[in-house]
Amino acid sequence: MKTLLTGGAGYIGSHTAVAMLEAGHEVAVVDNYVNSSAEAISRVEKITGKKVSLYDADVADKESMMEILSAEMPDCIIHFAGLKAVGESVAMPVEYYRNNIDTTLTLLECMRELGLSNIVFSSSATVYGEDHIPPFTEDATKGMCTNPYGWTKWMQEQMLTDAQFSSEASDGSANTANGWKTPLSVVLLRYFNPVGAHESGLIGEDPQGIPNNLMPYISQVAVGRRDHLTVFGNDYDTPDGTCRRDYIHVMDLAEGHVKAAEYADTHKGTEVFNLGTGSPYSVLEMVDAFGRACGHAVAYEIGARRAGDVQDSWADASKAKAVLGWEASRGIDEICRDAWNWQSHNPQGYNKTGL
Ligand code: NAD
Ligand code: UDP
Repeated sequence: MKTLLTGGAGYIGSHTAVAMLEAGHEVAVVDNYVNSSAEAISRVEKITGKKVSLYDADVADKESMMEILSAEMPDCIIHFAGLKAVGESVAMPVEYYRNNIDTTLTLLECMRELGLSNIVFSSSATVYGEDHIPPFTEDATKGMCTNPYGWTKWMQEQMLTDAQFSSEASDGSANTANGWKTPLSVVLLRYFNPVGAHESGLIGEDPQGIPNNLMPYISQVAVGRRDHLTVFGNDYDTPDGTCRRDYIHVMDLAEGHVKAAEYADTHKGTEVFNLGTGSPYSVLEMVDAFGRACGHAVAYEIGARRAGDVQDSWADASKAKAVLGWEASRGIDEICRDAWNWQSHNPQGYNKTGL
């Protein structure tokens, strides 16, 4: 299968590129490097010994995307490109809506004009809102998001679902009256908390500036880039008082994309899948596990709760197992081992050296 990964030089995209190539699929990547580096793709090629077609372009730019997609004519587009920092999205909602919504609209217009049928989308557990008690199942109603980033995911899911509906006639053929050359197949993947790195230590998460997320923050404390972690609240109604999340190894997540793209190629309609492990861990459990992996305790202090945090979030991942034949196989010890391997060999991320 020929795949095109938008945002493929980023954290999840680069790991998915490895998994796709290792599964025997072809990979093209489009990225504008707003939050990544082309070095990640060189390393993907090093890990796999295979070539990636790489395009430097803005996925919202229709002229460029028409040119790239006409040249590639992929069997499946996996749409990772987007801005993803929750706090930044509160400060810069206009940029977030512009980038995240426009990239998806451009892809849909190009797909309609070129007759491309399959798209897998990077959504997030954030669309469940705060009303449900975990584990979350895919049929739980989407909730109110607490920030513009979350709303962009919510809206993109809706846009893709509506486009799929308009593309398919009642007999299952392409709805040519609506301008479609083929009925769409849309797979919405709701990620829980992607963490860890490829076991080679050659690719991993490379956040710009101060990390917002727990695991890269812990890694940077462990490697000596930061003094200590601040644990955001220990007065939650959980066994140790800290919030619980479903941390999924990024290579498990990447392998989930391979299954999702293969599924999209043989089905029509819109399907939603949670990609998580189904097992929650608290902040302090993650700190302990990382300490075991790196061989020394990770310094932390207890701080105030972070606004907008939900106490508990984890997946019911049984649908992905039943329908895609996929389930996460790596646990928190492998997550921490691989995150530490990446961090300790690339203390400043890609293209940088030293502490
Ligand atoms: P990332 O920032 O590492 O990757 C996103 C990539 O998209 C980057 O390489 C960036 O340069 C590129 N990009 C952004 N806008 C672009 C544009 N207009 N044109 C071309 N390239 C563009 O983030 P990630 O963690 O790999 O996340 C990938 C996707 O998964 C995102 O859509 C994100 O919202 C979603 N997601 C991530 C998480 C997470 O915790 N990492 C959780 C849920 C969903
Ligand atoms: N967290 C923390 N300190 C940090 C970053 C995160 O205590 O510096 C906590 C956060 O409050 C949440 C958990 O770690 O309970 C996971 O946070 P992350 O931002 O990684 O994921 P999300 O909250 O978006 O699921």
